[in-house]
Amino acid sequence: MRKLNSIAIVGASLSGLRAFQALRREGFDGTIILVGAEKHLPYNRPPLSKSMLKGDDEITLPGAEELGERWFKGRHAVRLDTSERWLILDDGSEVRYDGLVIATGARPRRLPDAPEGVYTLRTVEDSMTLRAELAAGPGNVVVIGGGFIGGEVASTARALGLGVTLVDASPSPMRNILGTEAARWLGGHHRDNGVELVSGTRVTGFDGNGRVTAVRLSDGRTLPADLVIAGMGVMPNTDWLEGSGLTVRDGVVCDERLFASGAQDVVAAGDVARWPHSLYGGTLVRIEHWSNANDQGAAAALNLLAGPENAKPFADLPSFATHVHGARIQTAGLTHLADESRIVIGDADEGRFAIAFAKDSTLVGAVAVNAPKDLIRIKRAIVAGDRLDSLA
Ligand SMILES: Cc1cc2nc3c(=O)[nH]c(=O)nc-3n(C[C@H](O)[C@H](O)[C@H](O)COP(=O)(O)OP(=O)(O)OC[C@H]3O[C@@H](n4cnc5c(N)ncnc54)[C@H](O)[C@@H]3O)c2cc1C
Repeated sequence: MRKLNSIAIVGASLSGLRAFQALRREGFDGTIILVGAEKHLPYNRPPLSKSMLKGDDEITLPGAEELGERWFKGRHAVRLDTSERWLILDDGSEVRYDGLVIATGARPRRLPDAPEGVYTLRTVEDSMTLRAELAAGPGNVVVIGGGFIGGEVASTARALGLGVTLVDASPSPMRNILGTEAARWLGGHHRDNGVELVSGTRVTGFDGNGRVTAVRLSDGRTLPADLVIAGMGVMPNTDWLEGSGLTVRDGVVCDERLFASGAQDVVAAGDVARWPHSLYGGTLVRIEHWSNANDQGAAAALNLLAGPENAKPFADLPSFATHVHGARIQTAGLTHLADESRIVIGDADEGRFAIAFAKDSTLVGAVAVNAPKDLIRIKRAIVAGDRLDSLA
């Protein structure tokens, strides 16, 4: 272990917490300065679009209580100087560090000029607000974006008995991740569960004097709307790194051991980090999944302690799960790299199947619908670098 007297962690959510715990577990006895923009202990975000909207407040993130009270809660880092090793917080305080973990995550994309009644969903406050709106029983709920947040919110709103229209720019929801076949199945699954799906169309604006009454679509149509939830993806929180000397391009660009390009003693983890994934020939990836933030926070912190010479590459297989109208949809690997895909288990018509994705005949990813055990086997094959034929 190299000698670092103080380590700053910016971002006190999943990856920041895991970095903190890993440092203490590894025996780091120097100062840890944790800075988090939110006012709470770190919490779990996945329930925010699922159980919490239905009234369940359980969002505890195990280990959060280990932080105690001695950290900068509700404070933003606004500037970083990597050559002198200090950062400035929004109240003007200066934090000096020997090593830095960047774990500032991401924030939702927003449509400009959105009136009242149009929401995004990232924080516990967002979820509480949305829960109250849904409980008021709006007649027309419009969800923008058929990704995992949009799909989950649409599913939850239907479970609450509300009328839901889902507007998605692609021909079928999540097609860029699920591929054509599974995305087509998902579109049908939404419709079978009472969602009106409007595909291949974008939202261009809103009607409503003060509060939203309708959304306007790029095909000229207008949809009535009493409540709108926009799930249009996220942007990494990197604004505060401007002028820091770090390379920022759709996230903090790192090497394969998560050291940020442009500084010796800075690592990044979670939704904000972009690094070359060795399973995929060094393709730069930024992964917005819980399991990635969970494991990468710890890995980045341990690499910082070990130093660049002794650090280990981070090459976990990306994996993700979502629940939509009772179906469990899981993905593994990087399906978008594939030039070929095939159903290897089950049948889409039966609502239980797995699709393997390959590039140059080598497995790169998988999608499983209600087939978690089969996915485990395919994941092993992806990590082993097996060929698509081997799954026959
Ligand atoms: C509603 C919802 C549902 C989800 N469901 C799933 C799911 O089912 N499965 C799954 O795999 N993933 C899911 N995710 C994604 C998962 O929660 C994220 O991948 C994970 O939270 C990323 O953790 P993180 O610590 O990297 O970033 P974040 O959780 O975004 O945390 C970053 C923290 O840094 C703080 N911060 C930002 N800028 C600054 C600054 N300048 N100074 C100080 N602090 C700062 C932020 O306020 C935030 O607290 C979901 C996300 C959401 C929002």
